[in-house]
Amino acid sequence: MTAEFDAVTLSAQAVERRRARAGLKAEIAAGRANILELYDAAETSTDPVLTGLRVHAFLGAIPGVGATKLRDALQRAGVLPTATLGGLRVLQRAALRKEVVRLFRRFFSHLRGALVIIVGPSGVGKGTIARWILENNDDFALSISATTRAPRLGEREGEHYYFVSEAAFDELVKAEGLLEWAWVHKTHRYGTPQAPVEDLRDHGVNVVLEIDIQGARGAKRKIPEALVVFVGPPSFEELERRLAARGTEDARAQKVRLATARRELKTANRWDALVTNHDVAEAGQSIVDLARASREAKDFKE
Ligand code: 5GP
Repeated sequence: MTAEFDAVTLSAQAVERRRARAGLKAEIAAGRANILELYDAAETSTDPVLTGLRVHAFLGAIPGVGATKLRDALQRAGVLPTATLGGLRVLQRAALRKEVVRLFRRFFSHLRGALVIIVGPSGVGKGTIARWILENNDDFALSISATTRAPRLGEREGEHYYFVSEAAFDELVKAEGLLEWAWVHKTHRYGTPQAPVEDLRDHGVNVVLEIDIQGARGAKRKIPEALVVFVGPPSFEELERRLAARGTEDARAQKVRLATARRELKTANRWDALVTNHDVAEAGQSIVDLARASREAKDFKE
């Protein structure tokens, strides 16, 4: 070791950085730091503590990642253990990101947002409740579905739905881009784009899905930790009244929806939770509380 090198490593600044890096690794080891956000931040960060962290130290700090998992991940990504988080080339960064995402979702599920699926009969007020939740809670977002039905008056692309052609929907299904999809009321297909849901959850955002019962079944099969909340009406008569008052369907369509509702109401007790919509704010708050509790219930293992 040259005297010059020694002087640099022993400088107060280097010591401080090493200490800060140790602190960062401790945060990762304790399951408190969001490794995916750190990884992404390192791309543009000017903080030498983060950019200078070696990938083996970064990934090795994750509880549950031993020498074998670490070696395999780095090999798959084609990244040397000595590479630093700030020094990755574009393709390496993208390849290693896939590994970081995988490890994050496996070992840091406690930092991920909940997936809340609101089901219930047409006209019960799912949409109003979902809007109330979003307007009153910053840590919640709504998943925007793709549908083959035409937009109603006032509905906007990307805000209410992604309105797509039959062919485009086929493509989404083929590319496995949907978390679930279903024919709803036997007329149109509706589906949940998967990537935005998972990305939001990776950033700690609780994602709300307002989908039909078949879709909820499909989503729950794929994501067992999803919380399916059934919203029921105070009574069937009240549901009939609300659906008629909404005025978005003609008499025939209302009849189809009420027949579906009767079938759906029979499943009310089979889901993770049942919330009766007496009052929008009350029902919305119950769902928020359930979602937050489902996150807290996820223990940090190891
Ligand atoms: P509307 O046509 O009135 O907007 O919605 C009709 C039904 O489609 C609603 O009951 C809603 O729950 C369901 N739906 C909306 N988006 C999705 C989705 O992405 N997947 C599934 N399975 N159902 C959906």
